[in-house]
Amino acid sequence: MRIINFGSLNIDKVYQVEQFVRPGQTITAKDYAVAAGGKGLNQSLAAARAGAEVLHAGAIGAEGRFMADLLRESGADTSLLREVDGPSGHAVIEINAAGQNRIIVFGGANRSMTSEYIERVLDTAQPDDWVLLQNEVNLVPEIICRAHEKGLRVVFNPSPVPENTEKLPLARVSLLMVNEIEAAQLAGTDANADFEDTLTALRAKYPNASVVMTVGADGVLYDGEEGRFQLPAFKVKAVDTTAAGDTFCGYFLAAVSAGKSVQTALQEASAASALAVSRTGAAPSVPTADEVREFLRRHA
Ligand code: ADP
Repeated sequence: MRIINFGSLNIDKVYQVEQFVRPGQTITAKDYAVAAGGKGLNQSLAAARAGAEVLHAGAIGAEGRFMADLLRESGADTSLLREVDGPSGHAVIEINAAGQNRIIVFGGANRSMTSEYIERVLDTAQPDDWVLLQNEVNLVPEIICRAHEKGLRVVFNPSPVPENTEKLPLARVSLLMVNEIEAAQLAGTDANADFEDTLTALRAKYPNASVVMTVGADGVLYDGEEGRFQLPAFKVKAVDTTAAGDTFCGYFLAAVSAGKSVQTALQEASAASALAVSRTGAAPSVPTADEVREFLRRHA
């Protein structure tokens, strides 16, 4: 079985500044770095590095070819990735001396999904393939509905959560991957509610979906087909939590799609994301399967 990821690809342009630029002001950045990012790309990369068979569906502009190369090098299939006229999705990220960030995202090529393309991708699906998506591409409801109609399992990471969640066809989703903030937004509960209560409310609202709810340094909760579990996070020195959730998502799916139990998958995904938070960057911080195995051996 494959994971077919209708996923965003973003060029992260990171500017280190002393202070955020003010209206009418021009400032000089102290440093600049470009990296591959986007929740879709990060999740494909994580699932492929974990050993899953991944097809990444999406689009880039010409300047985004390095992201397709990165996905290919990780083992993901990019044969259906489209190159379109116009800019790739990108993010302009300012980081000030205090380590705070300000981010502008431009969807660019990530917003160029069409009905015809969705059909073309889904036509290649085998009955046991899973369809994964986040909320950074256009036509999300259509992708969910078409995949479900074809009898495919739909895994949805509703990130970022849209204003009107009622418009999302979540009854057709088999597995929701959320952090505690997204869970509360979807469930309509208080953001400071107890994790267990938020999870219960979310399950009650969308009973068709199993839920993996990550809670940062507090670990992860699962409620679904295989029961209810809670796992603490591994104790590591966190230096950059970017892509923690994406790494978790990719590793978790790779493990369950390989036939491992949910508990084993949660354990492996927690190890992978603990490694990711102990390194800087998004895509570059996603560990390999060997690194995760070694980490688990040391923490056994
Ligand atoms: P997101 O990036 O979507 O907000 P979380 O912050 O919930 O996701 O993190 C996802 C997973 O990454 C957690 O379930 C946990 O396993 C791991 N993780 C996150 N922060 C830490 C941390 N400080 N120490 C160890 N593991 C962490």
